[in-house]
Amino acid sequence: MTKVLAIDVGGTKIVYGIVNEKGEFLTEIQRKNTKKDIKGLIGEFKDIIKEYESEIDLIAFATAGAVNIENTKVESSTPNLPEGYNSIDFSSLSKKTVYVENDANAAAWAEYKVGAAKGYDNNITITLGTGVGGGIIVEGKLLRGKSGRAGEIGSMKINYRGRICTCHRKDCYESYASGTGLKLTAKEVALSDNVFKTSIFNNKTADNITTYDIVEGLKQKDAYCIKVFNIWQKDIVSGLINLVNIFDTEMIVISGGMGEYINTKEMEKNINDEVVVSKVKLSLAKAKNYSGMIGAALLACDKFMN
Ligand SMILES: [Zn+2]
Repeated sequence: MTKVLAIDVGGTKIVYGIVNEKGEFLTEIQRKNTKKDIKGLIGEFKDIIKEYESEIDLIAFATAGAVNIENTKVESSTPNLPEGYNSIDFSSLSKKTVYVENDANAAAWAEYKVGAAKGYDNNITITLGTGVGGGIIVEGKLLRGKSGRAGEIGSMKINYRGRICTCHRKDCYESYASGTGLKLTAKEVALSDNVFKTSIFNNKTADNITTYDIVEGLKQKDAYCIKVFNIWQKDIVSGLINLVNIFDTEMIVISGGMGEYINTKEMEKNINDEVVVSKVKLSLAKAKNYSGMIGAALLACDKFMN
């Protein structure tokens, strides 16, 4: 049996545990708060590794940020992690082999191997959270591209409404399809459409309407919230139609906190009404919170143990 110390590095929490080659956890999952300075964070990684180093075969990190094609380094840091994160040479953290993978790619691999996309060799996992991430599996392989950064679904452009993304570019998919996107759509509709006048939230300013308000308003059949939600879903669908047409995808897995609000049946129909390739299935994620750790561990096993 192969034992992999799997470590998922997020902006607020580091989650870790030992995973075997079947994607099963052999230990309880542990959590630490992510240190906000680079020295502290490296020390934290070393402490975690020291605790398990003698009993494991490999170490696998799932992390935010783009990872290089050699799976040893993060090429572009994310705003949530301390400055200098992309200077960490992960292989120097241990005598054991260290593997690094982007967390969205790792999550996609976990869904393919042990989750909702199991058995579908052409699949895409899309993470809808405060941003949008994704991983693309083509003919049973994780699509990496030239630099290892393929699958940046959140950065594709879906229209030209001129919305500024958190990355400062215009009209990224994630500026529409994420939770942040839903909030921006809520603001736009509140400012431009009379339907807001009769909304249960019309006592709020356009800036103060939250994603939670929209979800709450849907339950109460508020016409404004329904309108906002439908625009949001339509934007998500546009991107997914493009992806399915390009990759001839059999299964799309929706992951992330915003995923629980979407109507998967309706969305699946709306996508299939417009695709020119074979029809696609849509499913919510199964590996969920631990998919980053499981996926990174399984990819590391594939790379080094076969
Ligand atoms: Zn962007």
